[in-house]
Amino acid sequence: MSAPGPRCPVCGGASFHDGVAGNWGEWRRCSECTHVFADPLPAPAQMSSLLDAAYSGAEDGAGMADFADRLKQRDALLVNPSLWFWTPAYEDVLSWLRTRVPPTATVVDIGPGPGFFLHALRSAGFRPVGIDVAEPAVDLSRRDGFLMWHGTVDSLPERWVHADAVVAFFMLHHVVDPPAFLRRIRELWPNAPLAIGQYGPTNLDPIRSLPPRMLHRWNARALGVALEQAGYTPKVRQLRSTGVELEVLKPFRGVSRRFLAVPWLYRAIIRVVVTLLPKMLRRFRREDFVLLAFAEPRETRSPL
Ligand SMILES: [Zn+2]
Repeated sequence: MSAPGPRCPVCGGASFHDGVAGNWGEWRRCSECTHVFADPLPAPAQMSSLLDAAYSGAEDGAGMADFADRLKQRDALLVNPSLWFWTPAYEDVLSWLRTRVPPTATVVDIGPGPGFFLHALRSAGFRPVGIDVAEPAVDLSRRDGFLMWHGTVDSLPERWVHADAVVAFFMLHHVVDPPAFLRRIRELWPNAPLAIGQYGPTNLDPIRSLPPRMLHRWNARALGVALEQAGYTPKVRQLRSTGVELEVLKPFRGVSRRFLAVPWLYRAIIRVVVTLLPKMLRRFRREDFVLLAFAEPRETRSPL
């Protein structure tokens, strides 16, 4: 009999080998909830300093030069954050917030990175607050007038901020222990609904989707299980890709960055990318590209 291997970090089920994970180790797949995770998993503190270094431009393993690059694109795109939104998940979350919480509600954005969604929330009339482990990203958003916590949800003091809703986009694959992370959110803001956007199973890049950048390859089922275990009632949607992420367009994106010095021209080029190309590339769209979970806190039963 072979060695049992690590248990699934989401549900505790047994796991089996599901592929080689770059130079890091292996991918394991849970035989119960089907979650795919990296083995070994790094220490949480190691992960925080890695992301901080990536935004400072000091780390480029697993394509992490992207992070510092995003901060460079930031100024040109801030006047219209939707130009950066290459997934409909952002618009869906804004629509959900409009119907779910009061118009001036406080919305906590966990891992906002360059802060595009903080700006979109503010434009929509909400009061956005950010939490991020990357100091360069925190500094930029503070400069833009946002209340920001530099650190993780674990280091966040109780009652630091009230939240009417919590959102987290494309960061759950960086979290070493997702169930502990979700339980902590529930504990900090027991009545706040939670929206999570995450890469789906068809949204994998040969360089970027590797540890230590990506520790978890989420699917709808595993994300639902993780949220249920943390005390939420989740609804997980699977969104199709828009077409703009295709390999053939990568050189085009590289060229457009040369125009960053002329922000209006850069925006004009990006506008073509995000509006026109998706229509032309409709038939290349991929199913299950982005996962979008809306989770309501489950009522806790009072002790008998
Ligand atoms: Zn599992």
